[in-house]
This record gives sequence, C-alpha cells and structure tokens, in this order.
Amino acid sequence: NAPVLRVDDLSVEFATREGAVRAVRNVGLEVFAGRTLALLGESGSGKSVTAQAVMGLLDTPPARITSGSIMFEGTDLVTAAERVRRQVNGEGVAMVFQDALSALNPVYTVGHQISELLRVRRKMSRSAARARAVELMERVRIPAAARRVDDYPHQFSGGMRQRIMIALAVALNPRVLIADEPTTALDVTVQAQIMELLTELQRENGMGMVLITHDLGVVAEVADDVTVMYAGRIVERGSVEELFEHAAHPYTRGLLRSMPRTDREDDELWAIPGAPPSPVLTPKGCAFHPRCDIAIDLCRSEQPGLEVIAAGRTSACHLRAEVFDGRA
Ligand code: SF4
Ligand code: MG
Repeated sequence: NAPVLRVDDLSVEFATREGAVRAVRNVGLEVFAGRTLALLGESGSGKSVTAQAVMGLLDTPPARITSGSIMFEGTDLVTAAERVRRQVNGEGVAMVFQDALSALNPVYTVGHQISELLRVRRKMSRSAARARAVELMERVRIPAAARRVDDYPHQFSGGMRQRIMIALAVALNPRVLIADEPTTALDVTVQAQIMELLTELQRENGMGMVLITHDLGVVAEVADDVTVMYAGRIVERGSVEELFEHAAHPYTRGLLRSMPRTDREDDELWAIPGAPPSPVLTPKGCAFHPRCDIAIDLCRSEQPGLEVIAAGRTSACHLRAEVFDGRA
C-alpha cells in the first residue's frame, strides 16, 4: 500500500532583506489514496508553504526549495521537467484555496474557466467542454447550473464560489486534492456543507486528500491521519484516533486542551500561552519552548528530532517518552 504522494525532508527558504527565512524544515508527508491527511497547525507553521511546494508554486525566487523530494507516482516533482510538472498539476495533484474570489479569474465566466481547462488539457470540443462544465457544477450542487454557467465569479455567494473552485479542482480527476483552509472564510453551516462535499468527492474518486487546517473540530470529523506542524517543522504524527486519545507532543496536547467542547462544562476556554514565533525569529532549541510548561534546559539549546514512539506514531520532543506515558 504505497502512498500516492510522498514528501521527504522538504525544506523551503524565502530570500528577504533580513536574509534567508526558513519557512519549512525537513518536512515529510505520506498521502494515501482514499485517505485524508490533516495538516494541522497555527498560521505561520509552514502548512500552506508545504502545499505550495507540492503544487510547484515555489519554483521561482524569492522562494527556493533547499532540500528534499516530492514523489508523485515515481516522479520527483522538485526536479521534474516543466512539461511533466504542468501535466501533474490538475491531473495528479490539484488544490482548493482558502479564498475562491482571488483564485478564480474575475473577467471570465465560471463556465468559461472550467471548459477552457477541459479544452486545453482534455482536448474537448467547445460544446462537450461546456456540457461537462455544467455537469461538474451540478455535481458540486450549484442550483440552476445550466443557467449559472455563464455567470461571473462575483455573481456567486462565498459558499457557491468555493463549490465552483472545487469543481475546477476535480475537473481533471486528480489523484490528490489539497484543500488549504477551504472553509475558513465561510459561515458555519456553509462550512459543514463544503466539508461534506469534499469528503463525498474524495470517496467517489478515491482521491487522497490533504486538508490544511487549524481547526481541530474539522480534523476530528474528516481526517484519517494527522500531521502537526509548528514553526516550520513537524512535531507529531499519528492516526486521528490516537492523536485525540493520546497526544504525544506538548503542543498537540495544548491544542487539544484549547479546543471548545460540548461534552464538558468549562467556565472559560483555555489557550496555549504566547503566540507562535515568526519564521524570521524562530527560538533556538525546540521552537515551542517559550510556550511549553514542561520545558527543561535541554529544550532551550537543542532541537529535538522526530522519533518513533509507537507504531505509526512520531513526536519531536525531548520528553516524548515521559509525555507519552503520562509522567510529564
Ligand atoms: Fe516542551 Fe521541551 Fe518537548 Fe519542546 S522539547 S515540547 S520545550 S518538553
Ligand atoms: Mg495558511
């Protein structure tokens, strides 16, 4: 059971006036067909940068991939020829962005945008592409799709625009769908509908999905596997059940503790103290140490490596064993 997409040791830098900023460090991911991997973390943790690297959006300055590989069906996308890369995008991996309004082209109708993709990539005729565009819009449940195919993005509500972006993303039947905070800009009821649609499409097409989110509620609902990122690195990995049951990293424990819950009555919501560091000023040692209530001296000087703590479980913490067996 090989992963469809496998990222190994990926590091990404951005050139800035202050020098090179390392946004992603030694990140590894495995995405399996029909499974959802949640990439969980606060903003600035490197989740979106990782996704952008997979999509080939960081191949030009100021961004630079400084190490690692992104293997898709036997091809390393980091070193692949431009022609191969272009073909993988859309058919191999496709992405749904947070903000549909800026991802869609405002000057073309939505039908034109979907059918152009099909005409160029699938060599469909104008009429076949248009018919398929309507079908796709119906599939993502745009009411009166046959009429609305000639509307422009701004004529749709936020939720409907998100559906259109999803239609565009799945138009070429990608093997992997990356959804970067796909519901953040939407209201709660619409959020649930969009997540449901994504899950349905994933099952239907057997796609692997990478769901980028900071929302543990969403993770609990849709994820199979979870990778937790902090300050550009992976700090913990495991199945969703294991992680919720038995988190192995103090940061993950903090996220779980700060999650609003309906099954218990807390007078006030707890929050991890402090804020995540900017990638320009990542603390020495374990980047989480200024916010960690069990930090020891070693944490301030030495970066903990990501190590196996149990089958399918890894954690990057000097006290991983103590945390995992409940002594810390
Ligand atoms: Fe906390 Fe130290 Fe573990 Fe980092 S390495 S999470 S500071 S205990
Ligand atoms: Mg982001």
